[in-house]
Amino acid sequence: MSDCIFCKIASGEMKSKIVYSDDDVVAFEDISPQAPNHFVVIPREHVEAVADIPADKRDRVVSGVFGAVSRLATEKGLSDKGYRVVLNQGSDAGQVVPHLHFHLLSGRGFSWPPG
Ligand code: 5GP
Ligand code: ZN
Repeated sequence: MSDCIFCKIASGEMKSKIVYSDDDVVAFEDISPQAPNHFVVIPREHVEAVADIPADKRDRVVSGVFGAVSRLATEKGLSDKGYRVVLNQGSDAGQVVPHLHFHLLSGRGFSWPPG
């Protein structure tokens, strides 16, 4: 999608600190980190919501995203103390960028239930 910032990051048109990349998924450092480690994991394909992932691509997208989460957590040494993965879906949940993305946060404690 031409005016989507995350599509521009995925294509390289917009600069970011990429920490993971494969054919389906890109992960990069969040520009406004909410934890000592804060990565944004996105499918390359532009979809706004989970429900918008084409049915024939859902398995590949989901396994790609969580494969990236798992690899990043291991590579960055996040697995020992733990991490949180957050999907903000829609305005009530605080979604600002309308390109499906998962926040991978680590390096501090997180409250539960979330506020
Ligand atoms: P949302 O609130 O939509 O779930 O999260 C969007 C996230 O994207 C926010 O944490 C925000 O800091 C991050 N973000 C927004 N614009 C940019 C950008 O241009 N570059 C990077 N690296 N992160 C961004
Ligand atoms: Zn996009």
